[in-house]
Amino acid sequence: MNLVQRPTRPFVGLAEAVVDLSAVRDNVQTLHKRIRPGTEIMAVVKADAFGHGAIQVARAAVEAGATWLGVARADEALQLRAAGLTEPILIWLYDASELLLLSDIDVSVSTVAELQQAVSAPNVRHVHLKLDTGMHRGGSAPGQWIELTRAAAHYEALGAVKVRGIWSHLSHGDEPDATHSKKQLALLRTGVSLARRAGLDPEVIHLANSAGALTLDAPDCNLVRIGAGLFGIDEAGAGLRQPMRLVTKVAQVRRIPAGEGVSYGHDFVAERDTTVALIPIGYADGVPRTASGRASVLVRGVRLPVIGRITMDQFVVDAGDLAIEPGTPVVVFGNGDAGEPVTEDWAEWAGTIPHEIYCGLGSRVPRRYVEGTSS
Ligand SMILES: *Cc1c(COP(=O)(O)O)cnc(C)c1O
Repeated sequence: MNLVQRPTRPFVGLAEAVVDLSAVRDNVQTLHKRIRPGTEIMAVVKADAFGHGAIQVARAAVEAGATWLGVARADEALQLRAAGLTEPILIWLYDASELLLLSDIDVSVSTVAELQQAVSAPNVRHVHLKLDTGMHRGGSAPGQWIELTRAAAHYEALGAVKVRGIWSHLSHGDEPDATHSKKQLALLRTGVSLARRAGLDPEVIHLANSAGALTLDAPDCNLVRIGAGLFGIDEAGAGLRQPMRLVTKVAQVRRIPAGEGVSYGHDFVAERDTTVALIPIGYADGVPRTASGRASVLVRGVRLPVIGRITMDQFVVDAGDLAIEPGTPVVVFGNGDAGEPVTEDWAEWAGTIPHEIYCGLGSRVPRRYVEGTSS
């Protein structure tokens, strides 16, 4: 393999997550080219943009052509508004009391009771009715849809609210032949025509997430909700780029003789005399403890195995006879160009998905924003 030796820029502190915003923009543009012309993109920046930083990622996505923003919760939406983002924002999980704090935020509504809460909130104007088309994780039960759309049409006629969107969520968006997705699309289509019959005229119809946007051709829809794809999680192989690189540096180095154990419980015992290096981040920073004994990191162009248990603030690698010293840069994950692990590797080692690796990145790790991979 041709390994590119990319110098890691010196940084203050023990670790940093470097986020290349040009990769976020590229991902938005790549996805735009792959979906039906005229389909708009909602950048889903919930959970602090999967740990990447909601405000910075939202701005980059909007610069690249995203016209909507989506987050799970009310406080996440308020944070985006406070940062000066003016695009329409949709939230889908909230408590009735939070609706009173919102202004100029679209909310998802699944029941007549939720609709009434939205109507009662003084500054909630726009709602998106959500139909359960098979995910069975929220949304209107199909049997209650007609009642919901009629109630919404009633409140629209009173000028109390506007149904700006109708939507649903895919359960198998990454399934290449889209069998489930097509069924869900057909149910959504029926739901939309019933809503039109009730007198509603929604501006946007949306169903697909990142993977679904690539696997399901949905002429009924004019908006897709893109989360994972912004961060290079490329479930449908669209050539997306991973923007984040997690780097740290060796804290201490020591030689141990054969037969010595490392970290709690001595899960690792050295078979030969070796150099062990202390890496100063742990599971509180998002390095998953369940990856203990399987993971590796990149140091001076070489993959060094993580040995013993990963602890809250630190873990140990076996450096063999490699010359390293305190301060030597360590790449925990990146886009893989230099031979470093990618988040898919960490996910496999930890028995999870890359989404959880990103979301687990702790608040002690500063995020630094760059343009391009050379910075
Ligand atoms: C998280 C989320 C998305 C984004 O899904 P990805 O697979 O990350 O693109 C879209 N819609 C809803 C309702 C979500 O909760």
